[in-house]
Amino acid sequence: MTCVPKAQRRVRQGCKKAYPTHSLPQSVPCVFDTSAGYANINGKPLCLSAFQPSVVSANCTCFSDAIPKGRLRMTAKAIETCYACDQTATTKEHAPPKSFFPEAQRHNLITVPSCALHNNANAMDVEYTRNIVSTSYGINDVGQQHFLDKAMRSFDHSPKLLSATFSDIRPVQLQGVQIGSFTVDVSRINAVMSACVAALHFHETGEKLQRWEIVLPNMRFNPSSTTDEQVGNWRQFLSLFSQMNWDVRTVNSPDVFEYAVSSLPDGRVYSMRFYKAFLVFCLKAPEINDG
Ligand SMILES: [Zn+2]
Repeated sequence: MTCVPKAQRRVRQGCKKAYPTHSLPQSVPCVFDTSAGYANINGKPLCLSAFQPSVVSANCTCFSDAIPKGRLRMTAKAIETCYACDQTATTKEHAPPKSFFPEAQRHNLITVPSCALHNNANAMDVEYTRNIVSTSYGINDVGQQHFLDKAMRSFDHSPKLLSATFSDIRPVQLQGVQIGSFTVDVSRINAVMSACVAALHFHETGEKLQRWEIVLPNMRFNPSSTTDEQVGNWRQFLSLFSQMNWDVRTVNSPDVFEYAVSSLPDGRVYSMRFYKAFLVFCLKAPEINDG
């Protein structure tokens, strides 16, 4: 069995649509640096086209199964340095972190070579993010059970973490259902998702790219500090993702994590989805001119 070239592993999804790059707001980083996000609200259906069942079940060559396991090991061995820096790799980083997966579903996960520093760089943020994601409204049974098994346990061990996470939780109505809503530390989620997409990008291309803009469609703005116009612009921005052509990768535990790849003229865009509901879009961050 030979390794299938990456290009052949991609799923062709009909005719290409032009991606309206000119519509991308220049101030995007400011928009999603807003820290008062509302969690527990489902993403917009218009953002989900990357994961419509018809696309996921397309006749794609399984990304992980396409490479014989021996080949995977060889590849990892041949790459000497960390996915995030030039230090010698001494361990493996999971993408996404292993703690997102129930213990029974931790086989054949995506890993990249890592130095010890980048393997443990954000353990606290990973736990926080896992708790937020697995609490989010709309996630599947696997995510809900994982929340009960892991997040509740971490709250048992640290009541402080519980009160810090849900400090301002209050009831809101969503589509006639009463749910809880609370303010989220978006910067911590962004840090975890940035590391995750950097690892995925390295896994896909071998390129080390650390700076990513993270878009979290499941988050809502705090209405008391956001105008209708800002919300409208944000929704319009999110709708752009549904117009892109996505190559959905086949992964081992898609009920926990799956991802898709699309392209813009200046680089790849990744779409990640956790527990079938928590979406994350990742774009290459613009260069910052410090001068
Ligand atoms: Zn490193």
